[in-house]
Formats: sequence, C-alpha cells, structure tokens
Amino acid sequence: METTCEEIQMSLPWLINGSLKATERVSVYAHLSRCAVCREEVSFLVSLQEAIAPKAEEQPAVTGMDTQLLFQAILEKIDQDQEEREPIQPVHSPRNEPSPDVLALIQERYRDEWDGFRNRLEPAMEDLRAFARIVRSLTRLAG
Ligand SMILES: [Zn+2]
Repeated sequence: METTCEEIQMSLPWLINGSLKATERVSVYAHLSRCAVCREEVSFLVSLQEAIAPKAEEQPAVTGMDTQLLFQAILEKIDQDQEEREPIQPVHSPRNEPSPDVLALIQERYRDEWDGFRNRLEPAMEDLRAFARIVRSLTRLAG
C-alpha cells in the first residue's frame, strides 16, 4: 500500500512537533527517503518552526522524537553499509532502501546531539554489524 504525498504532508506537522505515532513515523520516513518534494516540505516546516520557536526555550517534543529518528537513521545506515559490502545478496526488499538524504537532514537538524549519539553508538553499531554478519551466514547455510 503506497502512501501519497498528500497523506504524508498532512502528517508532517505532527512529525515535526514530535507527536506522530512511531508506526506512522516509520512510513513517513520511508516515503521521505524516496520523495524530494516531501523532503522540501519537511525543510520548510522545520525552518518555520525554528523561526517561530523562542531560541532559548527547551523543546522537549523534539528530544522525544530525536531518539526514534536517530535509531531509524542508524538502522538504515547499517543496511546501507551492508549493501555496499555485499551488493549481490541484499537481504531486505528494495522498498526499504537506505536514505542518505534523510540521514543528512537529521544530521543537519540535530548536529550537536548527533555527535554525542555517534560517539556512544559506534561500539554498539560494531556489535550490530557483527550480529548481522552472523545472521547472514546462518541464512546462507539455511538456503
Ligand atoms: Zn512525497
């Protein structure tokens, strides 16, 4: 079931203010990874929010969203790394293709948090890659 740009853009304000449900967020990001028009809309809404929000004020909604988005982005990055290493045997469908544009968008939006996150997550990502390699070799044995 394909989500239309219109449907996506209607959910974007809730995505930006952090109140979109996790399941919907995943499908919005899947769409954003493929759709430049909707990514433009996100950039616009984010800059709008920044223009409206008082600079010094805390934005707890954004922090709540942050962890989810970064986690999602990191999973996509891992997928991407896997694909680069073994292009012949992708284990996931093309619909879940990685989205470097979305990653870049998130990195730009949350640059400070991103650095902190990355420092803590590098070791975890190594574990995940090792785990993925084990799963892959088991899959091959089964196949
Ligand atoms: Zn779209």
